[in-house]
Order: sequence, then structure tokens, then C-alpha cells
Amino acid sequence: MTCRQLGGPCDLAHHGMTADEVIKAQDRHLKEAVSTGDTGHEDALNDMKGRWRHPKKSMRWYRKAKSDFAALPEG
Ligand SMILES: [Zn+2]
Repeated sequence: MTCRQLGGPCDLAHHGMTADEVIKAQDRHLKEAVSTGDTGHEDALNDMKGRWRHPKKSMRWYRKAKSDFAALPEG
């Protein structure tokens, strides 16, 4: 799954066995990008932080990420 599919601005691809792994990889990627001065990733990082703080509100996003992940041909 790409950064963009997870709400980010670029096309970096994340690979993982599970949707949770991919979401964690995206979380790391956003933090790294912002820490190197990439302002394009700031909004996505703030969204992601908000999701950790409000897990119930974020269920819809999380379910969609999971179903998008499941729909990928590579699995
Ligand atoms: Zn990105």
C-alpha cells in the first residue's frame, strides 16, 4: 500500500503482512518525512496522531485501510 492510499501525499509503497504493519510503517514514514523538513507530510502526520488519540472516531478510516489492504492483489 502506498503513502497516498493511507492519506499521505507521496507514492512511497509500504509492504507488510498485515494492514496493521502497513499502518505502522506509514506512521514511521510520516514522522521521518516531517523530521527531515518535509512539510508536505505534516497534515497527514497530524491526521495520524489524531487517529491514535481518537481510536473510535477513526474506526471508519481504519476499516477502510484494512479493506483496501485486503483488496490488494499482492495481499
Ligand atoms: Zn509519503
